Amino acid sequence: MTLTLLFAAGGDAWTDYAPHLDAAIAEEGLDARLVTATDAPGEIDYIIYAPDSGLRDFAPYTRLKAVMSLWAGVESIVDTPSLTVPLCRMVDPGLTEGMVEWVTGHVLRHHLGMDRHILGQDGVWRNEVVPPLARHRPVGLLGLGALGAAVGRALVGLGFPVHGWSRSAKRLDGITCRHGADGLAATLAEAQILVSLLPATAATDGLLDADALALLPKGAVFINPGRGSVVDDAALLAALDAGRMDHATLDVFRTEPLPADHPFWAHPRVTVTPHIASATRPDTAAQSVIANIANHERGAPLAHQVDRSAGY
Ligand code: NDP
Repeated sequence: MTLTLLFAAGGDAWTDYAPHLDAAIAEEGLDARLVTATDAPGEIDYIIYAPDSGLRDFAPYTRLKAVMSLWAGVESIVDTPSLTVPLCRMVDPGLTEGMVEWVTGHVLRHHLGMDRHILGQDGVWRNEVVPPLARHRPVGLLGLGALGAAVGRALVGLGFPVHGWSRSAKRLDGITCRHGADGLAATLAEAQILVSLLPATAATDGLLDADALALLPKGAVFINPGRGSVVDDAALLAALDAGRMDHATLDVFRTEPLPADHPFWAHPRVTVTPHIASATRPDTAAQSVIANIANHERGAPLAHQVDRSAGY
């Protein structure tokens, strides 16, 4: 029987995704039709979903087999009571590629001290500081999932000693992997540059509080493209003001858009980027979602399922 896939996402998403979804359906040989609205929710098999669709009540979708999120972060939907079928998060090679590039760029900015020359061009020939080597700059990496592991691989490839931390124990080539509370303390203590690619969950909320930030080496830099709820803003500002930390490059915030009067905007040691570290790319994301549905229809378990109890 022909599957019915509901595409539920806001803005121009449908225009961006439609050709790629059609192509992926043809490529997978999936017998499916795409709709963007329905007055027969009981006939929908899968929902390809973004929270900006406004869809929150899944109860009428009585035939639903799974919800396929177009976003990697699922904190706004994971607790929805009417969502009782599997929820799959977005794992998209294009999204991963973009995140690797963004993190690598910002790590290198701080590692090489690029601001010194880019922002300080004043006719004075200052050649006393030669850029150091990556192998002398340990990087801490919180989160070793789809994005964190790829970022870790790229940083290892550049020569950085990478100390990774995750919820469960892991083995990743070239990365010192730790987990649990002791693992966090050891990871922070090594991290001259700390990158967070943790999701927003109850367990990660406020994880980087004053005590945790105090474990970082003096002069550490924090780069956060994960979720803003992971860090205590006031504690971060205090560490920057006291000179214990050198800089924070933040892409994600507790409130987005970041309010115009938030102290992060004007702080000389903070770089704000507006949640642009990476985005789902319609071409590769469409392939990923449709391949997941097609494999499931052939009897395979759904990939990238969210663990509701863990919140990610
Ligand atoms: P994954 O779910 O693949 O990975 C999450 C990682 O975090 C895993 O390694 C997991 O550990 C670890 N983790 C989760 N909870 C804890 C905890 N309590 N203690 C220790 N480690 C924990 O997610 P992705 O890598 O795909 O994405 C990470 C986040 O990046 C997303 O949740 C999203 O919020 C953010 N993001 C930001 C974007 C941006 O533009 N700024 C774009 C896309 C995503 P384990 O491996 O043991 O499960």
